[in-house]
Amino acid sequence: MSYLNIDDTDQKLIAAATEVIEKNYLEFRHTVGAAVLCSSGEIYTGVNIESCGYGPCAEPIAIGRAISDGERKIVAIVAVSGQSEPHAIMPPCGNCRQLLYDYAPDCWVIIVHNSKIVKIKARNLIPDAYGNFK
Ligand SMILES: [Zn+2]
Repeated sequence: MSYLNIDDTDQKLIAAATEVIEKNYLEFRHTVGAAVLCSSGEIYTGVNIESCGYGPCAEPIAIGRAISDGERKIVAIVAVSGQSEPHAIMPPCGNCRQLLYDYAPDCWVIIVHNSKIVKIKARNLIPDAYGNFK
């Protein structure tokens, strides 16, 4: 995998997401880890919580942990699959794209695009988002 505009801080974020899912991986329960970098410099992690109907993704869990700790500005986020080796970076689902648009439209989202790990602004992952009428 090659990188484009990915710096040491981004690598640290990817490592944190990887670590949290490696530590908590449980098939059909917790399969994705996410890490959020906030403007304070703190990194918050989370894993998805599956249930038989629906379970929140890892991203809102990590964002919720950050907000619960008083953080208000998200700088960057990444999600990593615990199912593959090496761990694949996961793009946010549609719900999470809307969540990121609502809470942190200018945060960087680390994704894979054209076989390269890249950063893209959350607002660019959901053009014409709901609520884009402000
Ligand atoms: Zn999601």
